[in-house]
Amino acid sequence: MSDIAITGVTVFKVRLPVVSERRQGSGITKDAVTNIFVKLDTDAGIAGWGEAATSATFPGGTEAHMAALHIYFRPLVMGADPFRIEAIMEQAERAVVHAAEAKAGLEMALFDIVGKALGTPVCNLLGGAYRDEIPLSFSIANPDLGADVEMAKRLYDDGLRIFKVKTGAAGHTEDLRRLETLRAELAPDVDLRVDYNQALDVFDAIPKLRDVEAFRPTFIEQPVNIDRLDAMAEITRALDTPIMADESAFSPADALAIARQRAADIISIKVMKGGMLNVRRISAVAQAAGIPCYGGDMAESGLGHLAGTHVIAATPNISLGCEFYQATYYLKEDILAQPFPVSGGKVQVPTTPGLGIEVDEDKLAKYTVERLD
Ligand SMILES: [Mg+2]
Repeated sequence: MSDIAITGVTVFKVRLPVVSERRQGSGITKDAVTNIFVKLDTDAGIAGWGEAATSATFPGGTEAHMAALHIYFRPLVMGADPFRIEAIMEQAERAVVHAAEAKAGLEMALFDIVGKALGTPVCNLLGGAYRDEIPLSFSIANPDLGADVEMAKRLYDDGLRIFKVKTGAAGHTEDLRRLETLRAELAPDVDLRVDYNQALDVFDAIPKLRDVEAFRPTFIEQPVNIDRLDAMAEITRALDTPIMADESAFSPADALAIARQRAADIISIKVMKGGMLNVRRISAVAQAAGIPCYGGDMAESGLGHLAGTHVIAATPNISLGCEFYQATYYLKEDILAQPFPVSGGKVQVPTTPGLGIEVDEDKLAKYTVERLD
């Protein structure tokens, strides 16, 4: 608790241009991602920032998340004490069903305020930094594979060793050709991972994935539809390669169902799955079942990456790296005041108060397409 009160809520719909088209099993991103930013002002002169990265292939949509923040969460937080994060998030849970990304954006802004008010980084509010840097994964999803091979070689020289190939968008033969090319072109110590984004049919998923295993992926992510935990469990039993649940693991209850059915070997956590505290609950359920977690994301910009970085820093069980590459390698321009911290192929955990880097409001204005005060 504190004597600080929230005095303003501003919601921004932001269109961020990207450097290349990307295809994955659940859809295509052409020239930009559209995310929501939220700014919470306080009577202490401290502003907190949050981001909701929205995707039509995850529950909800951009405009729904914007409405959740503007119409439903605004009255909950106006005048509220930003230190009462659990209480505010419980009210948000009752106010709007789902809207996990909007809730994540709200919670992120609250944590940013508390960290700034106490003069400490957000990871210190979550138990402190267990790790100071996080291995970074880059996703191979450009339809022009040659361009991504060149990119991967450049990133390898920067110290990156993890590459996640998006499969399922162009058919099995093409997937195998891409994996063969990557194994031939990239250094032998590259940690290659595969993400289907639900693209495979259940009936022939296992033989197709056995073909993919020949390329020694570290894990295979979400091969089949979000609702087919039964098939996920069969695949997990049938393959030697660990299977990761992403879209199927959105909540602590989902994690419990996965643990009970042993429907995955790994769970992908994302701050957009309801916020940092919810991620910790998912990870706790997974940990109890002996399931490690990985730091996925949903095309957040640098601001969302910062929240992901703090929660992974403070959570030992999220041990398989992160994919916070957008701000550095995918967006034409990020909107943080300083670059998102990546060096030596690893994300560096910020040590400055709050989320650690301020939003550049001039850049934010440049990319804002709608603003609700
Ligand atoms: Mg995924």
